[in-house]
Amino acid sequence: MVSMDTLVSLCKRRGFVFQSSEIYGGTGSCWDYGPLGVELKNKIKQAWWRDFVQRRADMVGLDASILMHSMVWKASGHVDHFTDPMVDCRECRHRFRADQLDEVPWVHYCPATKGNKFTIPAAEACSHCGGRRTLCPDCGKGELTAPRQFNLMFKTFMGPVEEDAAVTYLRPETAQGIFVNFENVQQSMRRKLPFGIGQIGKAFRNEITPGNFIFRTREFEQMEIEYFVNPHDTVDGRPADEHWHDRWIADCLAWFQRYGLAAENLRLHEHDRAELAHYSKRTADLQYRFPIGWSELMGIANRTDFDLKQHAKWSGKALTYFDEERKEHVVPYVIEPSAGVDRALLAFLADAYREEEVRGEKRVVLRFHPELAPISVAVLPLLKKRGDIVRTALTIRDELSRRFTTVYDDTAAIGRLYRRQDEVGTAYCVTVDVQTVGDTDKGEAADGKVTIRDRDSMEQIRVTASQLGGVVGDLLGGQRWAEVAAEVGRA
Ligand code: ATP
Repeated sequence: MVSMDTLVSLCKRRGFVFQSSEIYGGTGSCWDYGPLGVELKNKIKQAWWRDFVQRRADMVGLDASILMHSMVWKASGHVDHFTDPMVDCRECRHRFRADQLDEVPWVHYCPATKGNKFTIPAAEACSHCGGRRTLCPDCGKGELTAPRQFNLMFKTFMGPVEEDAAVTYLRPETAQGIFVNFENVQQSMRRKLPFGIGQIGKAFRNEITPGNFIFRTREFEQMEIEYFVNPHDTVDGRPADEHWHDRWIADCLAWFQRYGLAAENLRLHEHDRAELAHYSKRTADLQYRFPIGWSELMGIANRTDFDLKQHAKWSGKALTYFDEERKEHVVPYVIEPSAGVDRALLAFLADAYREEEVRGEKRVVLRFHPELAPISVAVLPLLKKRGDIVRTALTIRDELSRRFTTVYDDTAAIGRLYRRQDEVGTAYCVTVDVQTVGDTDKGEAADGKVTIRDRDSMEQIRVTASQLGGVVGDLLGGQRWAEVAAEVGRA
């Protein structure tokens, strides 16, 4: 598995992710997506939106505002309960989440070895004195304060007056925007249960210990679904909510695998009673084997009727659904698949990273699923000095860029250009050479064909310029390279 340091350095060097406000020393908790990062992120969001919202007859979309009425957060329980226990070191002043203290390696001055300093793996005892961590894990000297509850919401003021009445919060999750619009969406779209609402958007949490690159940040993006089911319905003899919960777990797992995550790097973690939120009937996390170890990629919770009931209570509006068959009003149950865009991006990046040996040389390649590759096609002229080759390549770039993310590059020799594109995961390279345009001096006629090179197999095929758009479209649409190569013939 690739290390986090390798990914961070590749992301900076190749324009995927930069530290926010870097020229001012940076912030440890926010990151900026560079030219390639924003393409990758957009493609992940587009694939999710298309597969889970547009292609499903039982789903619709929403884009709710980030700032909402402050009562929303009272009703949802965030004002009173969205807290983490925080402790401080009295010596070095470092701050920790009390429940995560034993998840990091700890510094220990061992009394059995004249106070020698050791760094001991998380949650392990010292092999010399058998002692366990009681002090600050970072400095190994300071006592820790008693835990205090810290609310993770960013508070702000609506309007020009900074008074209590104007207090509101940056949303810590997108879900509440869906719940408060349940009735609007259900009625305007004449939806029958079961149906779901999907939303992608920013969320903000004033995390006590952000870190591990884009894994935990204070500003991040979520892709969330609230799927409403009738709790009185059954499917195959089981309560509908339980049936749909299983379906969503399977669908989410399949989605991440479809776009490239290896099955052995994904697993399900069922919340036990202690972990389960009080309103949840069952929650399962999809975990990924990140460079920092197995951690949550997304959560899929059965939130029952908790949220709609809470908002009905606080708003005074009955958020119910009229069941025509049973002639009764019901409060739907909700299944919530909730994924972080940034964590998904980190997982796709880590899974795609390979260091390979090709003809005695190291090749770094990001083997992204072709649909997620930040650049779909790079158009490369074989000879930069030949005006006709460059002009043809630029025309092809122009043509392809109407449908695909396409770049043109002539700043190095072809071998190096290929390596650069491999390192950022470009799915296909198209080269224009002398044969394409012909050589009048030598009396060689143009064949009008270009070479397409596959990133993963490094195989090449030659197609006519007029075939090119169709072939690239087929490849990005899911047709396998081997099939295409068999049809048009390898170069
Ligand atoms: P964690 O236990 O890691 O703090 P959580 O259980 O609080 O996460 P949820 O509230 O279930 O997370 O949020 C749903 C998803 O949103 C998470 O699975 C994760 O992908 C993403 N997410 C949550 N908090 C952050 C964060 N601070 N930075 C980046 N992504 C986040």
